[in-house]
Amino acid sequence: MRKKFLQFHIPEIDNRELSNVQDALNSCWITTGPKTKEFEKLFANAVHADHAVAVNSCTAAMHLALEAIGVQAGDEVITSPYTFASSAEVIRYFDAVPVFADIKANNFNIDPECIQSSITNKTKAIIPVHIGGLAADLDAVNQIAQKHNLHVIEDAAHAFPSKYNHKIIGSISDFTCFSFYATKPITTAEGGMICTNNKEWAERCRIMSLHGISKDAWKRYTAEGSWYYEIIEPGYKYNMTDIAAAVGLAQLKKADRMWKRRKRIAAQYNTAFKEYKELQIPHDDPRHQHSWHLYMLRLHLNAMKIDRAQFIKELNARHIGVSVHFIPLHIHPYYKQKYGYKAEDFPIAYQEYQREVSLPIYSKMTDQDIQDVIDAVADIVKKFSK
Ligand SMILES: *Cc1c(COP(=O)(O)O)cnc(C)c1O
Repeated sequence: MRKKFLQFHIPEIDNRELSNVQDALNSCWITTGPKTKEFEKLFANAVHADHAVAVNSCTAAMHLALEAIGVQAGDEVITSPYTFASSAEVIRYFDAVPVFADIKANNFNIDPECIQSSITNKTKAIIPVHIGGLAADLDAVNQIAQKHNLHVIEDAAHAFPSKYNHKIIGSISDFTCFSFYATKPITTAEGGMICTNNKEWAERCRIMSLHGISKDAWKRYTAEGSWYYEIIEPGYKYNMTDIAAAVGLAQLKKADRMWKRRKRIAAQYNTAFKEYKELQIPHDDPRHQHSWHLYMLRLHLNAMKIDRAQFIKELNARHIGVSVHFIPLHIHPYYKQKYGYKAEDFPIAYQEYQREVSLPIYSKMTDQDIQDVIDAVADIVKKFSK
């Protein structure tokens, strides 16, 4: 058994991030400035989007996207219950109603049929989430949206670099929102990006990301700008700093190599785990490039003597850090109390949650780390098989 605890995630930070950050600090432009502009440009290129607005989180990105399409109190926005807090809380920011549509059991992604049956005359938008980095059914989601005149905002926090039908995720729907949180496929420590092909929406998001001021600081204080500005709305304080963008620029350069490494780890896990009747390996689809942000293993609980909680304890005892993605939103106290949900209201989300375990998958894992995870899982499965 390994001696040192294997962390669930470690970002790959090296001298390139350090020297970029040093550059940013030395340049005297430490808040939004040239490095943020460059990061926006290169990221937009990477995901084939016309416009990219850098912000300080994916949560901020989705908030601004909903603001740009004019969501109001009482409107309904459909999203998945199988996601992180952000995807629904941004709807509540407007006093709008998050309407959950259950997921498909095969890939944890929102089920278009459940979206269809949740639409009312108050529905304004749909927020599909690409769980783990495997694309949701965007053709179906966008078809429903077009038919009912709704907007689609992708929660792509996990989905860089992911593809849907061989097309990179970033410009398929009205908005695509990415996260650069510490554990995400690329990181800026904290950060996010709004991508859209609509110039007006991009401009609105940019203005609202910085106090609703009609010119950003960079333009204001350089020769090409002036001291004058106008507040057109009470906006937010969501801008990305050049220090964060400096980290992002270094991360972007290695994104492809880090993705290839995760893909290789997933392939090794799949090969090792597919022979066990107690385990279900993650769904994949050759049309859609999986970013392999998460490796979402599932347990066939009726083939085992232990439950998921015990399985995790056994992994921890073997010094392997793991996680669970996600505790469905509708079983959290806030949503339960506010909307009166029961666990069974979204039966697939609830059922799959109970048997999911996310294994470590990141570029800094060594071959030995990967083998240790495989050995630990195999050991537990053999020991507790029914
Ligand atoms: C991490 C995450 C977010 C939020 O990202 P932040 O950049 O931390 O705001 C949103 N949605 C999902 C599915 C996530 O996992």
